[in-house]
Amino acid sequence: MTWLLPRLLMAFGAALFGFVIGVAVHAVTGFQGLGLGIGTVAGVGMLLLVDAVRGHRLLRWLRGNQQDNAPRDTGLWGELGYRVERAMRDRDRAVARGRLELEQFLSAIEASPNGVLMLDAQEHILWCNRVAADHFALDPKRDLQQRITNLVRAPAFVAYLQAGRFGEPLVLGNGRGPGTLSIIVREYGEGQRLVLSLDITERLRSEAMRRDFVANVSHEIRTPLTVLAGFIETLHSLPLTAVERERVLVLMTQQTQRMQTLVSDLLTLAQLEGSPRPAPDRWASLDGLLMRIAADADVLSAGRHRLRLKPETGVELAGIESELLSAIANLVTNAVRYTPDGGDIELVWRQLDDGSGELIVIDTGPGIAREHIPRLTERFYRVDGSRSRETGGTGLGLSIVKHVMQRHGGELLIQSDVGKGSRFRLVFPAARVRQASDSALGDEAAFSVGVLSDH
Ligand code: ADP
Repeated sequence: MTWLLPRLLMAFGAALFGFVIGVAVHAVTGFQGLGLGIGTVAGVGMLLLVDAVRGHRLLRWLRGNQQDNAPRDTGLWGELGYRVERAMRDRDRAVARGRLELEQFLSAIEASPNGVLMLDAQEHILWCNRVAADHFALDPKRDLQQRITNLVRAPAFVAYLQAGRFGEPLVLGNGRGPGTLSIIVREYGEGQRLVLSLDITERLRSEAMRRDFVANVSHEIRTPLTVLAGFIETLHSLPLTAVERERVLVLMTQQTQRMQTLVSDLLTLAQLEGSPRPAPDRWASLDGLLMRIAADADVLSAGRHRLRLKPETGVELAGIESELLSAIANLVTNAVRYTPDGGDIELVWRQLDDGSGELIVIDTGPGIAREHIPRLTERFYRVDGSRSRETGGTGLGLSIVKHVMQRHGGELLIQSDVGKGSRFRLVFPAARVRQASDSALGDEAAFSVGVLSDH
């Protein structure tokens, strides 16, 4: 009630002013009634005039943009101005807060990996994030307020929106390029719709790969199993001589070994996929690995090839020794298996300027046609299926090599010319290559600590 006292004071001032005027008029004219009348009009007039001036000032401020403060009057008009100004400032703050929250909300949706699109009841686009714009080939600004079915014309999508049955998601080709989308629609508000799009290309691809993998494994196991079943049947039903029996048993052993190798390769792959990346602080001597590999290759080749597999590198590689052994051995074994008798197989180590290094397995075998090379590391991919199986191949060897190299931060590169031979290069990053001499001291110290702690 702070405005009441000034109001009363002003009324009192106006009454006093009227009284003074009335007395003056009475004194000049001698008419008491005239003095009373003019004094009253003067008092009321003054009150009205002051109110009109203050009211006008407040109105002028209200009509403007209210950037300045409201007129700072005392009394009723001052209080009114102050209250209106405060209500407006509160409203502005609430609007700004609401706008900020909306912006934050929209940028959160914008950051979503899924497409989000809002439609009104007439299927006009109210808003969409960048992912949705990409999925449906829309322009997030230009296409606002456009009818979605005019822009996304895929018949399946139009029919899905119009049918209004959104229980099951719609699977649709991506609007921009290859790929597949899963589309979910939810209704909200008064007929508005929220369209969510999810790129499921990768998921479908890995599902297809899993299906292919299971089919391939089943096929690979079924073949030797069928052969084994046939031999068992033969052993049961036919009276075989001792020699024939021995021959059947040898063939049965081969098929069993084939299944064992397959299962062992599958387990190796599963292990490679499931275990963490090898730490770069366990070092294995490359020459030691090559000695073992060369010995096995000698046995496998049985003198049919000229082998040069011990280049004496003096290098150590960081990683898991068994995995490195398996990768190199797979390449050397392949070279021996696929190179015809009399061919050359060589292992070369090359240290590169940036500290990285590569181990190259070179053979003078049949070579591989260019179109097969990118697919060689796929599981069960074979250029010549019968040759691979004849020589005990599973179709998983190069896939294992690629995995091992990826886990060790390196890569497998394949170069080949049909009729001339192949080069399989294992490239190791600098961080995983060192000269054995650089490490001799440190390792001796580590070794003696190890020996002491054993006792
Ligand atoms: P496999 O067990 O069939 O040898 P890999 O994954 O080791 O499976 O090799 C895939 C295919 O690549 C082989 O089937 C073969 O056709 C081809 N290949 C691999 N190494 C060589 C090589 N040194 N020379 C020619 N072809 C090769």
